Amino acid sequence: MTDAMKLVVVGASGRMGQALIRIIHEAEGTVLHAAVERPGAAAIGRDAGEIAGLGPIGITVTDDPLAAFLAADGVIDFTAPAASVEFAALAAQARIVHVIGTTGCSPDDEAKFEAAGRHARVVKSGNMSLGVNLLSVLVKQAAKALDAAGWDIEVLEMHHKHKVDAPSGTALLLGDAAAAGRGIDLADHSVRVRDGHTGPREQGSIGFATLRGGSVVGDHSVVLAGEGELITLSHNALDRTIFARGALKAALWARDRKPGYYSMLDVLGLSS
Ligand code: NAP
Repeated sequence: MTDAMKLVVVGASGRMGQALIRIIHEAEGTVLHAAVERPGAAAIGRDAGEIAGLGPIGITVTDDPLAAFLAADGVIDFTAPAASVEFAALAAQARIVHVIGTTGCSPDDEAKFEAAGRHARVVKSGNMSLGVNLLSVLVKQAAKALDAAGWDIEVLEMHHKHKVDAPSGTALLLGDAAAAGRGIDLADHSVRVRDGHTGPREQGSIGFATLRGGSVVGDHSVVLAGEGELITLSHNALDRTIFARGALKAALWARDRKPGYYSMLDVLGLSS
């Protein structure tokens, strides 16, 4: 029998960090090896279970990621772009699994994650849920079937008021899927903001609209608008444990893989 996978949670006191600690605690086949926060954070020295609302579990939050990674099998990382880049280098050094859920990363950051995949087994996705990844496959199919001359594509999203990046990683993932269906590059066709006298919509563009407020975990819709009819493909996240469960699944999947840079579509067997 394989030993339980020893996982480190970085950003342990964040919204996702807490959800991950709770899910790892109840899941079979994984064990919380360490919990990491930035130096000086209020959580350093506290019990990770206390922070996540479980009561004490005997894991003290540390600010030394490398020491934690060297004795672990994997790290789950929902933090911030600069932190994830730093953790990618350390995970590569320790040659472990690095599951990255952080959004708002630049193309330069992405290049560093891919480079880290030469030594670590990296799984990165703007959304770790089964539902959104399946939705992206459907969006790609729909965008392929419905031509740009007759159908306009718009991606709508709403998140809680604390979210710091826009559009969401999931909105971009869905925009990428639509672009792939159309055989175009999203970067050359996306319209992220509209304000003032914008003129008519450019044919073939993919538009984004961002809403922020309250405690919304994550709502996304892709609207395909034709003459006289509308198709809306949507997903509503009701609880952030779906992302934590997906991340855990990704870590376990990657455990026996070769070093590389993988997506959640690979984990779920949905990549074409
Ligand atoms: P959050 O509540 O702000 O948590 C982020 C945590 O990371 C905070 O505790 C933060 O500490 C910590 N952190 C930042 N830099 C660090 C460093 N250098 N070392 C250690 N810890 C560090 O945010 P969240 O809602 O959990 O979301 C986190 C990220 O995951 C965001 O990018 C979000 O968009 C993304 N996300 C992705 C998915 C997905 O499925 N892919 C789902 C949900 C969220 P400080 O407060 O001290 O900065």
